[in-house]
Amino acid sequence: MSSYDVLIVGGGIVGLSTAYHILKKDGSKKVLVIDKSHGIGGGDSGKSAAAFRAFFYSRTNLALAHSSIEFYKHVQENEKFDLGMLFVGYLLIFDKEKYNRVSKVITDLKHRGLDCSEFEPEDLAKKLGIRTSLAGDEEAELMGLKDPYRGIYIPLAGILKPENLLEYYSREVQKLGGRIEFDTSVEKFIIEPKKLTGIPGEPFPWQEAEIKGVITNKGEIRSEKVIVAAGAWTHKLLDPIGIDCHSKPKKRQIFTIPASKPELNKLLYADGINKYNIMPFILLPGDVYLRPEPFEKAFWVGLSDDLGRPFILEENPQPEEKYYMYGIYPVLHQYFPQFTDMWPSSMWAGHYDISLDGQPVIFEDYNLIVSAGTSGSGIMKADAIGRITASLYYGEREAELYTGEAFRVSDLSLQYRKVEPELLII
Ligand SMILES: Cc1cc2nc3c(=O)[nH]c(=O)nc-3n(C[C@H](O)[C@H](O)[C@H](O)COP(=O)(O)OP(=O)(O)OC[C@H]3O[C@@H](n4cnc5c(N)ncnc54)[C@H](O)[C@@H]3O)c2cc1C
Repeated sequence: MSSYDVLIVGGGIVGLSTAYHILKKDGSKKVLVIDKSHGIGGGDSGKSAAAFRAFFYSRTNLALAHSSIEFYKHVQENEKFDLGMLFVGYLLIFDKEKYNRVSKVITDLKHRGLDCSEFEPEDLAKKLGIRTSLAGDEEAELMGLKDPYRGIYIPLAGILKPENLLEYYSREVQKLGGRIEFDTSVEKFIIEPKKLTGIPGEPFPWQEAEIKGVITNKGEIRSEKVIVAAGAWTHKLLDPIGIDCHSKPKKRQIFTIPASKPELNKLLYADGINKYNIMPFILLPGDVYLRPEPFEKAFWVGLSDDLGRPFILEENPQPEEKYYMYGIYPVLHQYFPQFTDMWPSSMWAGHYDISLDGQPVIFEDYNLIVSAGTSGSGIMKADAIGRITASLYYGEREAELYTGEAFRVSDLSLQYRKVEPELLII
């Protein structure tokens, strides 16, 4: 039997960032991260589109994303660890109706000093070859697709390689003396009374009990503190012990389309939008997104569907080819005729771990810390989430983010939760 100061269940981006920040504050802590996967990135972090943006209305979203992005930039530029981070930008393409809904929010963001610029439909057509008039197209009309009206380009945004980010944190954790063990699956929590009486059968309901460790497929691990950072699996671990993490998993899929035609190549390496001459991450009306994958000379395409998509955890979620065919392709090829007759060369699926309000959930109960509910933006916020979870572990009221901003730890708890709603709904 082994014993630790901190045991972190889940070696995804949240668990690793948390381990890193705990050890960074105090390198004498005995920290173990365990994961049931065979290796790094076995959970949803390794399946991510890993796009990021520091452009949100909600103070919470902005603080978490901005600080994390600045930290990753520092890692890549100053520590010289390649995260594959490219500031290609985000391009949000709105139809007229949606643009009218969000334009006030965007004006407010500009007043708050957040940088963005607008593209007219003609610019979009010239730079990206997007179709700007769908008039007279029977299929587009039947689908209710509207003409692109404006593009909002956000420069402090882009993409990174999630596997490199995981690699960075795992390397740093081990350098600081932390241990990471794979193929180690938590089966049960060890629940014991705070004060043992020695009477067989304890803990009894009248006793004050708490979590003292876990039972895994490899045996018992005891720890002063257990932190659950098990992403989409968190509820599966906590429901049986009566702790509600207020987040649930939903399947999300990515389809790879190779840039195998000259017109797709031209789109992927679009000139003059950013310094790399790579197209930005694009969000189309109809919510289809298009992410450049310049390292593979391809596009990653996705769409986060909601109504009708169940909250279900699947151990090995499978992508649905028909979802591309009937859910994504009809929109994609209408706006970008370059994709006509293009089908995925590969595809995969993972989960979003969706919380009650789309913000992470970080709280402590019965000596157990929970850090989950990243809701589809866990890569872009992971560094800040790790800092806040580490601060909760150390009993600090405020976490200092990389940007220097003080973030009240209880703002992401359940009991004292205080998060600002996101008004830039895209
Ligand atoms: C298709 C897709 C696209 C995405 N796109 C973006 C994006 O563009 N930008 C962005 O910021 N985010 C994106 N996300 C979300 C992002 O990937 C997640 O928010 C983030 O990876 C969650 O990290 P995590 O550490 O909480 O979870 P995970 O990476 O899933 O880590 C949890 C770990 O817990 C382990 N575990 C579970 N149960 C047990 C157990 N019983 N015992 C031991 N270990 C256990 C799992 O094996 C797993 O490795 C996307 C996600 C998906 C699926």
